[in-house]
Amino acid sequence: MLQQTQVATALPFYAAFLRRFPTVSALAAARLPQVLAAWSGLGYYRRARHLHAAARVVARQHGGRVPSDPETLARLPGVGRYTLGAVLSIAFDQPRAVLDGNVARVLARWFAWPVSVRNAADARRLWALAERLIPMRGAGEWNQALMELGAMVCTPRQPMCAACPVRAWCRAHALGRPEAFPRVAPRRPTERLRRAVVLLERRGRVLMTRREGALLEGLWEPPGVDLSTRATARRALSDAVRALGLCARLEPAGRVVRHTITHRSIAVEVWRGAPSGTPRGAARFVDPHRPAVPLTALAARLARDRRAQATLSRRPTPRRRAGSAG
Ligand code: SF4
Repeated sequence: MLQQTQVATALPFYAAFLRRFPTVSALAAARLPQVLAAWSGLGYYRRARHLHAAARVVARQHGGRVPSDPETLARLPGVGRYTLGAVLSIAFDQPRAVLDGNVARVLARWFAWPVSVRNAADARRLWALAERLIPMRGAGEWNQALMELGAMVCTPRQPMCAACPVRAWCRAHALGRPEAFPRVAPRRPTERLRRAVVLLERRGRVLMTRREGALLEGLWEPPGVDLSTRATARRALSDAVRALGLCARLEPAGRVVRHTITHRSIAVEVWRGAPSGTPRGAARFVDPHRPAVPLTALAARLARDRRAQATLSRRPTPRRRAGSAG
């Protein structure tokens, strides 16, 4: 859960996930949609798919015990170099290094290496350094201390050198310019996109449709369309609603949600409508407070959003007319 996610964000999900799946065998026995539903709102669902697949391998091939042999562990779905080092050092006290953004920053400053963490050759150097430094015992504490130091003290901006336990050995501090290390790689430009979604409500339930595509496969979201710069949302949404076998007069909800995924910033126009008809295909009405299907991060956000609930309470009357789908 902590890959690409801060501890404070992950903690409530972690506790709820463990309550739902307290053991490897419980997770292995679950169906994927149940696991994705428990992951709902945390994003980066590939992690949940991998965790579920790995639990199944552990349950079936390793008697329900996570293997401590590095080669066996590395063959589990989703276990890359970082996860391998973290699990082996923290769970099994093996002298294995980890390198994430926090550790890379601490090491680059400690040794005053003008490296870029996005550069593959520099990353190899940092990995080699992390492996040279790893103690034979207590590697888990060492790795967690480095991660914590980077997260809490040696922060990207304005590191707290005065409070830092390693400042006596830190070359970047001695040079008086810790923020010069590591080199900051130019950011990938943000891609600005437009999307429109429609909240179609029936008896307190909202229509969700299953999204396709590599990233969102199997996750559910209100019907929506990607918009080109000049396209009008009403027509495109009406077509999408009609394609689901429904008719509804659509109205703008008067709000735009800014949704960010990695380097994409998506302006999502929210619409609403009260549909008639029976939805066809991968579409169903769900309780937005207790969805029985795994939601995308956007859908979870809309479901949580009180303003969305207020929007839903102002139901328009279903009817066919110009600007309506159906
Ligand atoms: S002394 Fe400053 S730059 Fe060096 S590791 Fe500590 S916080 Fe980071």
